[in-house]
Formats: sequence, structure tokens, C-alpha cells
Amino acid sequence: MKTTSARPVRNLVLVLGDQLNLDSAAFHGFDVQSDFVWMAEVREESTHVWSHKARIALFLAAMRHFRQALIAKGWQVIYRKLDDPKNAGTLAGELASTLRRIVPKRLVMVQAGDWRVGEGISAAARETGVPLEIRSDRHFLCSAEEFAAHVRGRKQWRMEFFYREMRRKTGILMEGEEPLGGAWNFDGENRESFGKSGPGSIPEPVAFAPDPLTREVLSLVQKQFAQHPGSLGAFDWPVTREEALRALADFIQHRLPHFGQYQDAMWSTPGGLFEPSARRSQTYLFHSRLSVALNLKLLDPREVLSAAETAFKSGRVSLSSAEGFIRQILGWREYVRGIYWHLMPGYLMSNALKASEPLPSFYWTGKTDMHCLREVIQQTLDYGYAHHIQRLMVTGLFSLLLGVRPQAVHEWYLAVYVDAVEWVELPNTVGMSQFADGGQLGSKPYVASGKYIQRMSNYCSGCRYDPAKSVGADACPFTTLYWDFLLRHETLLRKNQRMAMQLKNLSRLSPAGRAAIRQQAERLRSSLRSA
Ligand code: FAD
Ligand code: SF4
Repeated sequence: MKTTSARPVRNLVLVLGDQLNLDSAAFHGFDVQSDFVWMAEVREESTHVWSHKARIALFLAAMRHFRQALIAKGWQVIYRKLDDPKNAGTLAGELASTLRRIVPKRLVMVQAGDWRVGEGISAAARETGVPLEIRSDRHFLCSAEEFAAHVRGRKQWRMEFFYREMRRKTGILMEGEEPLGGAWNFDGENRESFGKSGPGSIPEPVAFAPDPLTREVLSLVQKQFAQHPGSLGAFDWPVTREEALRALADFIQHRLPHFGQYQDAMWSTPGGLFEPSARRSQTYLFHSRLSVALNLKLLDPREVLSAAETAFKSGRVSLSSAEGFIRQILGWREYVRGIYWHLMPGYLMSNALKASEPLPSFYWTGKTDMHCLREVIQQTLDYGYAHHIQRLMVTGLFSLLLGVRPQAVHEWYLAVYVDAVEWVELPNTVGMSQFADGGQLGSKPYVASGKYIQRMSNYCSGCRYDPAKSVGADACPFTTLYWDFLLRHETLLRKNQRMAMQLKNLSRLSPAGRAAIRQQAERLRSSLRSA
């Protein structure tokens, strides 16, 4: 790493691995004569959680391509590579040493996507006496201040109210003050399973074969992070803006038409494990796999929303599919970010249900006889991807029912998914999936027995357990733990109107039935602890 000029530096513009947009607020007023961009690949960001190899490679490959794009514009970039022998290994260490060396007038950046990273950068700037200017991230449609205003004075925060406000604010899928089609959502038409015959043939998402720059990164990661989980064999993610735009167009044309209908469905092709193309289709189904490009800021959410809305307006997709997709980005994505910045840093340690079990070791290997978990975890290790219901209602549900410490669950999700950045991962894990925030993000815990998984997938037909059974040798562990969860938290859950139906079913269990479930759940817990 060397600066190409001895001229005094006005602004040192810091760009993080998830801030790869050329129209970022950080570049506003950038002066090619006196400003420098600063980027660094540091080991700490790949090891503070035990990151999947593909997640590490994705960030590094996208950063190196972004650096090339900046250089092509004629901008000066100070860039520290991971394998540079002088690399300090931490972002704060690298930054402090650059600040001391070149003493810029100002350090400029857009708000970091991770509270911990932001704190480290502020400390490095303070320590070296360089003024730090943090600009608000205009990638998002709702600022932290707007979100704070939205929740102020509300007893309950709900994504639905927030989403409607965002629809009104942006005019997306609106007719004046009313939602297009007369309804805010079309859940009744969405969320089907594939039925017994399965999804049939699904157009495979466009794949991006690694170019020489990405291949260099893949071999670096293979060498330096050999012990990390996951594989690089299926790495085909978009790592440039051009690729991200192609991925968006491909999704809108081929998979958005069925997105809404099948957004909650899961499927495992018999024999698919051995046929790469079938396996890839069954992994992505009708999902967009755009979270990576969005979170790295290679795509702007406005262009994604506009593409989906245009597809509907030109008659290429139904309103229910377009709305189902738009809700995820305009609603959930913005809402979880608002929650994150509103409640950090305390949110990280939330544990409303006082869960204390360790994360079962099979989360890192996929070695379990529960077919649903085996499929989802193996897919996660192979691709660094699982769709929302696989994350929420398979891996997330099991750890919630088992009573795993939420911070251990959080570290796993942050490590194993290629799209994981803390502002989006943490509220989804701690709030939505583990109910560790006691209901700040969602109104009730997402709990269900194995029968939900049976309804939404074909996993159970290839499993040694029976989702209808809660006790006995072939009882489904999800079903045992579901009843046990309701028993353990009955007092707390009775205060929640939305749990009334589930607790009514619980009250039908006999004392002997309750005791048998408790015993079976305890045996399961102790066997997983010692596995
Ligand atoms: P699609 O199903 O095609 O959805 C379209 C887009 O909507 C996504 O690309 C994403 O940008 C957005 N979106 C959908 N659901 C959510 C949501 N709940 N929160 C925020 N945005 C959403 N998403 C991440 O981007 N990073 C994470 O680290 C992450 N961790 C999660 C952890 C848990 C426990 C759960 C339950 C969900 C998590 N999600 C996370 C949300 C969601 O699962 C992923 O965004 C989605 O699976 C990404 O795949 P896709 O791009 O094919 O999404
Ligand atoms: Fe999963 Fe239970 Fe179904 Fe087996 S029976 S696949 S463990 S839900």
C-alpha cells in the first residue's frame, strides 16, 4: 500500500466492504486532486465470527472490483490487501496507521452497517486527532431519524404500520392515498407449498463465473481460512455493479412471477444432492438472491423496487407477486435497519426468554438425523445461502425451541450467510427468529411444531422422525420441543393474545402427557449438549 502523491490530503474517504456504491454520500464533493479513497481488507472482519469461506471471498472480491472501478475513474485509492505482510489485521489498527502517516484534514465516511465497526473507526479517528465526518447512508429509504419519529409514542411497533407509511411516502403501488388493488397485502394468495408433485422446473438464476480477480481471492481465502466453515465450490455471486444489474433483470423476468406464491415453500429434490443444476434450483427456488448485491450496495433498493413495480404495471407479473416482493424490501429491510439503529448497542445482549443452551455442534457440520436441518445446513455450507423460511422456520425455529443462547445463534447467522451484515442479521435473529427482544420487533414468537415443516416442504417424507408425534423413539424433535416451549413459557405467553389458540391446544394435554414431553425434551437437550 502506498500513496501516489506527497500532496496534502484534504478528505480521506473511508469505504467499507458493504459500501460499494459510486453514488455514495461519502463521495459527495470528492475532489480528485486532493481527496483519497481508503479501503482495507483485514483479518479481524473475517474472524470475529467464524465466517463461511464464501462470505469472506464475496466481500474481498467485491471490494477488489470496486477498487478497480475507482481507479478507472482516475481516483486515488489507498488499499491494503489481506496478504500484505504489513497488514495490521484490524480495521482500527490499519486506519490509525494511515491517519498518522498522511494526516488528512478530515476523515469522511457513510455510517457503518455494524455498530462495532463504527465504534472502532471513531476511536481510531479520536486517537489520531483527525476530525471524522459521518454522513447518513442515502442507500436506505428511511433514515434513523425518520424511524425514531415513526416509533415515537407508539406502544407497539409493527412492520405492517411502518410498511404502509413507507408505501404512502414513496407512492409505490399506490393510487393516491389508497393501496393499488384495494389491499395492503395479498398474503391469502401467497405462501403456498409445492404440493406432492414439487415445483417442477424452475428457471435457474444467472450464475457469475469467477473472473481472474475473483479467482485470485478464492485461492487466497482457501489458503488463509482453510479451517473456516463452508465451501467455495459453488461461488457464483455478482461482485460488480454490472453483474448485480444482470442478476436483477434475470430475477424480474424469470422468477418474480411466482415469487409471492411460493415464497414460503421449501423443497428437496430426491437425488438432487448429486445433480448440481437441480440442487441449485432447489436452493434458490423463486427467490431473488439479491440480498448480497443490495447489502454490498451494488444495487440501490429504489431501482429494485421500481423494476418490480414496472413488471406489474406492464402486466408481466401479478400484483400479489410484485407486492409480496416489494414488502420485503420497502417493509422488512428498512424496518429491521430502523430497529437496529434505534436499539443498539443494548439490543445485542437481549435475552427475554433467558435461553442458555449452547448451539448444537451440528449447526457447523450438518451432521444430524433430522432431515430438514440436515438439508438446510448442508445447503448453507455449500452455498452460503438459505431462503427466509429455511432461516426462520428450520434453523431458527429449532434453536428457539431448544432454548439456545441468542448471542450464539446470532454469531452463527452472522458467520454462515453471504448476505450477513449486522444491521440486517441481528434484528432478524434476535428479534424475529429468537424472540429475545420480548416482542419489540414482532408481536409473537414464530413457533410451530414439525407439522409446519411437513406442510411447507417435502423434508419430512425423507426423515426417520414423525412430525405428528411428540413422544416416543420416532417423535419429531421439533414437535417435542414445540410443546415443551409452550410449557416452559406458558405464564409469559398467556399475556399475549396472539398466542391464545396455541395455548388453548396446550391446555388439552393431560398431566401425564405434559410430563412425558418434558422428559423427552430434557433427554434431547442433554444428548445435544454432549454431542
Ligand atoms: P428474497 O426472498 O428474494 O427477498 C427479496 C429481498 O427482500 C431480499 O434480497 C432482502 O433484501 C429483502 N428481505 C427479505 N426478507 C427480509 C428480512 N426479514 N429482513 C430484511 N430484508 C429482507 N437478510 C439479509 O440480507 N442478511 C442477513 O444476514 C439476514 N439474516 C437473517 C437471519 C434470520 C434468522 C432470518 C430469519 C432472516 C435473515 N435475513 C437476512 C432475511 C432474509 O432471510 C434474507 O434477506 C433472504 O433470505 C435473502 O435471500 P433473497 O435475496 O433470495 O431474498
Ligand atoms: Fe424435520 Fe421433524 Fe420433519 Fe424430520 S419429521 S424433517 S425433524 S420436521
